[in-house]
Amino acid sequence: MKRILVTGGAGFVGSHLCEYLLNQGNEVICLDNYFTGKKQKIVHLMNNPWFELIRHDVTMPFYIEVDEIYNLACPASPVHYQYNAIKTIKTSVMGAINMLGLAKRTRAKILQASTSEVYGDPEVHPQPESYWGNVNPIGVRSCYDEGKRCAESLFMNYYHQNNVRIKIIRIFNTYGPKMEPNDGRVVSNFIVQALQNKDITIFGDGNQTRSFQYVSDLVEGMVRMMNTDDSFTGPINIGNPGEFTMLQLAREILDITGSKSKIVHFPLPEDDPVQRKPDISLAHEKLNGWEPKVPLREGLLRTIEYFDKLLIEEGRR
Ligand code: NAD
Ligand code: UDP
Ligand code: UDP
Repeated sequence: MKRILVTGGAGFVGSHLCEYLLNQGNEVICLDNYFTGKKQKIVHLMNNPWFELIRHDVTMPFYIEVDEIYNLACPASPVHYQYNAIKTIKTSVMGAINMLGLAKRTRAKILQASTSEVYGDPEVHPQPESYWGNVNPIGVRSCYDEGKRCAESLFMNYYHQNNVRIKIIRIFNTYGPKMEPNDGRVVSNFIVQALQNKDITIFGDGNQTRSFQYVSDLVEGMVRMMNTDDSFTGPINIGNPGEFTMLQLAREILDITGSKSKIVHFPLPEDDPVQRKPDISLAHEKLNGWEPKVPLREGLLRTIEYFDKLLIEEGRR
């Protein structure tokens, strides 16, 4: 049995990861400051004696003895990470330093949840790990993009200078049950709007693309990455290469829900990437043939079912 720390464990991805790691027979310590996370996402795990929940902010030092650390603490939706941009950078940078300090002292393995955003508005398509990206360092998204890029640099430097056992994954847009209805990301926005027969808000002309990964595929890839040899650090892309425009996504969700919602257009936010699609050949090679298993329509069906139940429970539908 391993003792595993998951920072950001009360968030969307973290809550799925905590559950998966417990089911694998590990002891799990979930650390979260509840900025975008919620106790409700992990409350069903509280009766498990091998699960522990700690309210803590990763920008502050944290002392514990663990075997592995998954560092997920950081708001991920543009709406939330731009709400307090300075705090977002501090979370990525100071959080990484503290967790790397912890990993250095305990010799724990540590995995960083980096992001496809390190590629910025990419000029290479699809994006391989070798691409350095095209990021506006002073734009509205930079608190997130540059914070994550700095964290990657810290991880590599702790690896080279202090032999810390690091892993870096670059996660592409991920969706699924346990996203918050007000998360602000496109999949949850469109689904909630469709279920409530409200206008579907497309930013720009809707021809920008994203590649959407279902959350269970991400969790599987993360855990496989953690279990690779110490000599393999990444970075490695974890995403679903299926590429869709926001218009296609909206139509798919309208089709599944049978919604009466109309599509409306709003201005495109500043620095919104035009296209994004992962090259996952490295993940396939290094993670025992890992590849996403859940196609978009099936993942959307499961996510719509989740939101439908939630909105009915909350009296919002
Ligand atoms: P989320 O917002 O649901 O989860 C983030 C969690 O971190 C929340 O529980 C939040 O309360 C917590 N947190 C934020 N600041 C903290 C702090 N200072 N101290 C302690 N906890 C803090 O987002 P998510 O989608 O679950 O993302 C998880 C991780 O994966 C993030 O690091 C994100 O950057 C990364 N990621 C996610 C995606 C995606 O599409 N979901 C894509 C790329 C990268
Ligand atoms: N740190 C932590 N938990 C630990 C060990 C370290 O939070 O178990 C923090 C510590 O506060 C420090 C940071 O991690 O600020 C970086 O640690 P490192 O050992 O690299 O640097 P130093 O302590 O020399 O500043
Ligand atoms: N988007 C949209 N309507 C929304 C929310 C987002 O059209 O209600 C667009 C957004 O402009 C971007 C894409 O959907 O082009 C993905 O946005 P999201 O915030 O989910 O993720 P990110 O931009 O970080 O990939």
